[in-house]
Amino acid sequence: MALTITDERARPLRDLRISVTDRCNFRCTYCMPKEVFGRDFHFLPLAQILTFEEIARLARIFVSLGVEKIRITGGEPLVRREIERLVAMLAAIPGLRDLTLTTNGSLLAQKAAALRSAGLTRITVSLDSLDDTVFRAMNDVDFPVARVLAGIDAAAAAGLEPVKINVVVKRGVNEHTIADMVRHFRGTSHIIRFIEYMDVGATNGWRLDDVVPAAEILRLISAAVPLVAVQPNYPGEVARRYGFADGPGEIGIIASVTQPFCGDCTRARLSSDGSLYTCLFANRGHDVRALLRAGRPDDEIAAFLTRMWKARADRYSEIRSEATLGDRKVEMSHIGG
Ligand code: SAM
Ligand code: SF4
Ligand code: SF4
Repeated sequence: MALTITDERARPLRDLRISVTDRCNFRCTYCMPKEVFGRDFHFLPLAQILTFEEIARLARIFVSLGVEKIRITGGEPLVRREIERLVAMLAAIPGLRDLTLTTNGSLLAQKAAALRSAGLTRITVSLDSLDDTVFRAMNDVDFPVARVLAGIDAAAAAGLEPVKINVVVKRGVNEHTIADMVRHFRGTSHIIRFIEYMDVGATNGWRLDDVVPAAEILRLISAAVPLVAVQPNYPGEVARRYGFADGPGEIGIIASVTQPFCGDCTRARLSSDGSLYTCLFANRGHDVRALLRAGRPDDEIAAFLTRMWKARADRYSEIRSEATLGDRKVEMSHIGG
């Protein structure tokens, strides 16, 4: 039986999100706007990024502290060379119950089968619209919808079902296309989750007016496809579930802004350069790489992680206010969603 360590608000450490790179081949306007992440932007040099061996060692220590679920993210995780080798290393960790990965889907058609054979069990693909013009403008590198759809098909064919599809909804940009997404994926095993646009990082120029609240997302979809609320799969599930009123299938809505869920937040995040963040909105991380590279033993690293988790009191989304909006926060592409 794994250990349970709890933070200052009695939340256990259960999930770990590992960012394997701060680089991405997209420039989604809400995440890595081109004006900031342009040609002269300095991404982390390779020497500062954790090796797969370092990541796997830390993951094993996290699992010994109670982590049951690991999500590989980024940046774009599939741009990291031989990512399937890391998947295989993580899949082999005893006690890990769930290993998943979040991707923009651009390289998934080539990679899905290799990821599955390496031991990946689930996948989330981000896709903000099926309208090609809207999607190309949101990824801001003119990437076509068709290639992401091919990636989703490849994932399903490889057995990574059900594929979860993340849609960030931004006012005036894609909310007019969300009902169409529901109609399109209805009848497949895929599950769409609509996400309120969040004020992560300091570069996306977030304004509350740009958020389409969950209640409005629900109204927009229900007007086209009638929905009924469904019980959560487990206590503390982040997405609120809605089933189709007239047949099988469901969607989810993640209301991080209007209905925050900090009380159930059991997630730690590891940046690609080996810092631990205890909140998506943290302004600083705790350097674990220094311990790894100084040759410190596992029990010392475990004690460090335990201390950091026990001191955790984060609940940013619950206390988000005009006062906190101006604070400096880590970028989403640095620590992953
Ligand atoms: N590149 C991968 C991808 O896009 O799926 C993984 C990393 S990305 C940072 C993880 C998730 O965060 C994606 O689903 C993305 O849509 C979401 N995301 C990024 N910026 C966001 C924001 N400002 N508000 C809400 N979700 C955001
Ligand atoms: Fe890249 Fe994902 Fe951020 Fe888009 S959301 S810029 S795909 S890291
Ligand atoms: Fe967890 Fe921080 Fe998000 Fe709250 S704001 S749910 S503590 S990551």
